[in-house]
Amino acid sequence: MKGLTYTQLRDRFAPCLLHETTEGYVPVPVSERLAQAIWFDQRLQRGKLQTSDGRRVRVVSPGWWNLEAGPDFRRAVIAFDDDAPQLGDVEVHLRANDWRQHGHDGDPLYNNVALHVALWHSGGERPATTANGRAISRLIMSDHLDAPIEQLYDTMDPADYPYDLDSHVGRCEARLRALPAETIVALLDEAGLDRLHNKARRMTRWIQRAGIEQALYAGLMEALGYKHNKEPMRRLAARLPVARLRELPAAQAQGLLLGVAGFLPERTLAAADTGTRRYVKALWDVWWRARDEFEGGELARASWRLAGLRPANFPWRRLAAVAQLLSTHWELWPKIEAALTARREAQRAARLEALFADVEDPYWSRRYSFASKAQPKAEQLIGEARARDIVINVVLPAAIAQAAPEERPDLAEAAEKIFAGYAATEPNALARFTAHRLFGQRPSRGIRTAARQQGLLQIFHDFCLNDRSACAQCKFPELVAQFAGR
Ligand code: SF4
Repeated sequence: MKGLTYTQLRDRFAPCLLHETTEGYVPVPVSERLAQAIWFDQRLQRGKLQTSDGRRVRVVSPGWWNLEAGPDFRRAVIAFDDDAPQLGDVEVHLRANDWRQHGHDGDPLYNNVALHVALWHSGGERPATTANGRAISRLIMSDHLDAPIEQLYDTMDPADYPYDLDSHVGRCEARLRALPAETIVALLDEAGLDRLHNKARRMTRWIQRAGIEQALYAGLMEALGYKHNKEPMRRLAARLPVARLRELPAAQAQGLLLGVAGFLPERTLAAADTGTRRYVKALWDVWWRARDEFEGGELARASWRLAGLRPANFPWRRLAAVAQLLSTHWELWPKIEAALTARREAQRAARLEALFADVEDPYWSRRYSFASKAQPKAEQLIGEARARDIVINVVLPAAIAQAAPEERPDLAEAAEKIFAGYAATEPNALARFTAHRLFGQRPSRGIRTAARQQGLLQIFHDFCLNDRSACAQCKFPELVAQFAGR
């Protein structure tokens, strides 16, 4: 690639298609992001849309612009012919055949796509199918644009999408904009507290079923699975209960956790260094004796999603931390209770976080995988941000859940105080999305605490997630009006 210009390299790595027509015409480079923006803004002759297989299409909602792996738009609402509107994902490409060229026909992440949208036809067009063999209808936008592509190119800036625009805000935005800041803050605070108590109710059910230590362990595992590996972490916690792990020193608990998770490598690691060979042998010594107990219960490697994870966040590092945590602290609840009631109130949150962030492991603190070299500097197994999330999402709800049966209102009070005192963090994709829908380009209105961020998420789950009408039938604007008039 030596000697290639930036433009030549860009076309290789981030291709744009040049749209050319007649002589003397200045071609416009059209990127996939512009095609996505055209879909998002529905710059189409609505009422006349038809798929390549002859079905009429009505787009109730183009969906939510997805900034993570998977289809470009989530939860679009689309009606075909006279059928009732259906919820599904939408994938947008420049050319019809990009669906196959991008390998979506073999990727289960795209199984929920309801419509494939392409800006242009391809020569020798091939149908789009999902990994589970379902045929997907295709809409070619160039047959239906409401203005020439050159005009759209000149007037739409793909860099503005999806959040730097005042379009695509929810119906509730106008109502919220009219409210004084203190009313919005009160609304978000109450929604945040509601979320905390919802989590406490879930924790209560877990505690009643399996006891506080198993409930904390299950919550911890779920939190360490973060977004993509919550489900396998949950299953692992159910198959390998905390009571079984607590009988063991950390190194043996790791053998069981990594064994049931399906992460143990081959015993013959010829290329591995001595430290890894010794460690893997020790794990196998444990797993070899215990595996019959879990026969058929090991998780398949395919249950785990590793693509896109930072090496520091690989699940085997998290599991190593869980093993250390259980052996170091043996019982978590007494440690949590002590931190919650520490005499110095200002130190309570830090003490709770330290329970998780300070965990170390002689092998995994310096390794990212069995194949990696030992790093010169140790890296946290559970970073500070994750430790804080564990406190907010697991520990504080557990404290509130324990307060009633133990007749300890002081625990619930301490938990609520810590919750209210946390500053806001970098919002996740869902919080950003909801903030934009509710507040447009003023998303930071009052959202300076973690509790208010949680409030945003609660509103998302209570209203946005259940809406299939592009806001038309959502009752949140009415709730806002009632709240303001209290
Ligand atoms: S669905 Fe409801 S809460 Fe969500 S943006 Fe629309 S009006 Fe607002």
